[in-house]
Amino acid sequence: NLVFVAKETVGDETRVAASVETVKKMKGLGFDVVVEAGAGALSRIPDGEYEAIGARIGAVKDAKRADVVLKVRRPTPKEITGYKRGAIVIAIMDPYGNEAALVEMAKAGLTSFAMELMPRITRAQSMDVLSSQANLAGYQAVIEAAAVYDRALPMMMTAAGTVPAARVFVMGAGVAGLQAIATARRLGAQVSATDVRPAAKEQVASLGAKFIAVEDEEFKAAETAGGYAKEMSRDYQARQAALVAEHISKQDIVITTALIPGRPAPRLVSREMLKAMRPGAVAVDLAVERGGNIEGAKFGEVADVEGVKVVGYANMAGRVAASASALYAKNLVTFLETMVDKDSKSLGLNRADELIKATMLTDGGEVVHPNFVDPDQ
Ligand code: NAD
Repeated sequence: NLVFVAKETVGDETRVAASVETVKKMKGLGFDVVVEAGAGALSRIPDGEYEAIGARIGAVKDAKRADVVLKVRRPTPKEITGYKRGAIVIAIMDPYGNEAALVEMAKAGLTSFAMELMPRITRAQSMDVLSSQANLAGYQAVIEAAAVYDRALPMMMTAAGTVPAARVFVMGAGVAGLQAIATARRLGAQVSATDVRPAAKEQVASLGAKFIAVEDEEFKAAETAGGYAKEMSRDYQARQAALVAEHISKQDIVITTALIPGRPAPRLVSREMLKAMRPGAVAVDLAVERGGNIEGAKFGEVADVEGVKVVGYANMAGRVAASASALYAKNLVTFLETMVDKDSKSLGLNRADELIKATMLTDGGEVVHPNFVDPDQ
């Protein structure tokens, strides 16, 4: 069986779907591996390193023979035409709102999988791309904030006087937020955080940050069985906003990471709140790709909003490409391994497996995922 590791073509994607370690692993699973020339360049993996481990360096046309195509982003319509019918394609597919692209993949006869739909169960933890990438995004958000902040983060006591610690407020304490808290703490900032899920309170405290939230009955019931946030009532949001407004006015850096599955990101920071921040304040909106938590945040840029530098970079994990690729590639190969019979080393899908069922978008010429099947057909 042949695996093709594609070079990414979409926008500013810097990551790659295989590392030296995972190519080695795939060879061990009995695959021949072709890596498209230059695929790892932006993640600092030269072609020669893949070659040294037994991969062949190829071109786009080699995809036509591949049984498995590994990618970071969903293949473009042009890329799809270069794959053989029946090929398995695994990537971050971004399926919501892109149903037409799924139909294209189905028509091309691809068996496609969306890594971000991996269930968050113990068995699949090592395949959880949302976690691996959010972790790095949370870290990088602090690094980017520090880079545009004109003051130091830690308190510095010097002979020339004392520089106070920066105050950092993290909104949304999921995977990205918790890593942002830990990173800001390591840099010596004074850190506080908020979330609508009560479980976050203890996690925030365990990282040495102060927890700020409206802790009423609604808050106590705000976590779904899957561990995600619910959309809060208008009343709660208003009280949350009042609390946050007062707190934000005393902050130097705000990092927002709040998401609600299947909904636009909640708007948490208004222009008025930004206006009340100190001169030189910085905000980073990690939710910018999903509509943004911060009013005025601009996708892909650092915007000046009411005197605050609002960082809205897309693909934050991709800004630490080498690390992001290493973890993403590991997530992928772990999933691919579940599709290989250990003894015969043959590739075979167990369509009853819950991981397969949760992530498979298209198969046998059809869109098969229940969330995306067109009800009119
Ligand atoms: P996410 O990316 O969906 O959202 C980020 C955070 O924003 C969440 O903590 C959410 O509660 C918060 N949020 C939403 N609305 C908000 C609002 N109005 N104000 C403030 N915060 C708001 O979440 P995530 O990072 O994917 O994590 C969600 C949960 O899943 C966490 O409990 C996490 O620990 C858990 N998790 C479990 C596994 C696993 O078991 N394998 C893996 C990863 C994450």
